[in-house]
Amino acid sequence: MLLCTALAWLLFGVSWQTTFAGTSIGALAYSISCIVRLRRVYQWLKHDTDAEPPSSVGEYGDVLDELHRMRSISIRQAEQAELRIMHLQNSFASLEEAVILLNSAGEIDWSNKAAERLFGLRFPDDQSRALATLIRAPEFLQYFDEGDYERPLSIAAPMSEIGQLEVSITWFGANNRMVFARDVTEVRRLEQVRTDFIANVSHELRTPLTVISGYLETMQDSDSEWQAALQQMSSQADRMESLLTDLTQLNKLESHIERSQHDVIDVKAMIVTLFDGVSVQKPEQKLEIKAKTNAQLLGNHEELYSAFSNLINNASKYTADNGKLRVTWKLDATGASLAVSDSGVGIEAQHIPRLTERFYRADPGRHRSTGGTGLGLAIVKHVLLRHQAALKIESTPGQGSTFTCLFPEERIIRPPSDN
Ligand code: ADP
Repeated sequence: MLLCTALAWLLFGVSWQTTFAGTSIGALAYSISCIVRLRRVYQWLKHDTDAEPPSSVGEYGDVLDELHRMRSISIRQAEQAELRIMHLQNSFASLEEAVILLNSAGEIDWSNKAAERLFGLRFPDDQSRALATLIRAPEFLQYFDEGDYERPLSIAAPMSEIGQLEVSITWFGANNRMVFARDVTEVRRLEQVRTDFIANVSHELRTPLTVISGYLETMQDSDSEWQAALQQMSSQADRMESLLTDLTQLNKLESHIERSQHDVIDVKAMIVTLFDGVSVQKPEQKLEIKAKTNAQLLGNHEELYSAFSNLINNASKYTADNGKLRVTWKLDATGASLAVSDSGVGIEAQHIPRLTERFYRADPGRHRSTGGTGLGLAIVKHVLLRHQAALKIESTPGQGSTFTCLFPEERIIRPPSDN
């Protein structure tokens, strides 16, 4: 096209015998036509989003056609994205849970109706306002600022006197956040009813049980033909007592969802004390402590004592009188672990995932002889949960088991020599 125009003007110049003037006029005319065409393209790009591009031929036309095609695709994609966003917003809008979308500065981009009901936020009036200036509960502000949203947060509902909300936050896009909150007032109330019920039943049962145990003890001292029966009644009363103790402890662990306090625990010393108890019960068992570190544990002394005691007593209980028990305490790349191993009866693989359920027993027949409440491992699980730790169970039937407590780095005080 450009070539044709240049040639035409050259011929025109030659025919007029003023080549230079002809070429200059041609170049000027061509420039003007380019500017006019560019202006039309600009107008088209700026305003006529649906219109066809200005008609043009040659390479210029090809470029415009390609531009038109690309623009149509991008318009279509933008429309689809907008539809998707509208669809998502409509879905979020109808949720019972509050949804608040925040930009990277923590300002509200969008919130749904439930956010108005649960937090008193008004959209669009509160759009672009910082969420931290609208929800002032100190626990929320701390949670919001810390940026560690792995666990949800429970707070008192700002819009109600007795309400409870569970808030979770997730990051998305470029430092944007989505705040999600649900009303858990009823769930918490039912949990409280259940917890109170167990606590009350345990308390009410304990008094008559103490009286019965007292009489049984006195009667056992006398010389009676009922001696054997009395002995059995007494041991069953003891079992009931242990059951009430474990049930009360489990109830307490489940109802305190906050993180455990930070006592500094000398793990090795704790194991020595627990092994002393085992030696009294089963003096023939071979006990070994392999403390590969002097690291200390941060946590609740009473709770961890109870968890380790359950694991060690189980190891002893499910192992023959001349069997072996070993406790290993060591550091690893992600924290520290305490493993309780035994050379006992072992557990079939299909039972392992269910062992921490309340009253679940791998061998229901055996527990009559071993005693036990069926709540030991449930207590271990809850204690570990409260310490951000996990329980790993490995076992080979007939050969023995290993129960390993895996503690995260934040719960460990490494001695300088181990660093
Ligand atoms: P229990 O009071 O019955 O011991 P736990 O909750 O402590 O209740 O344990 C649940 C079940 O897990 C036990 O009944 C037993 O079948 C199995 N178990 C726990 N520890 C061991 C172990 N060291 N060896 C074999 N089986 C075990």
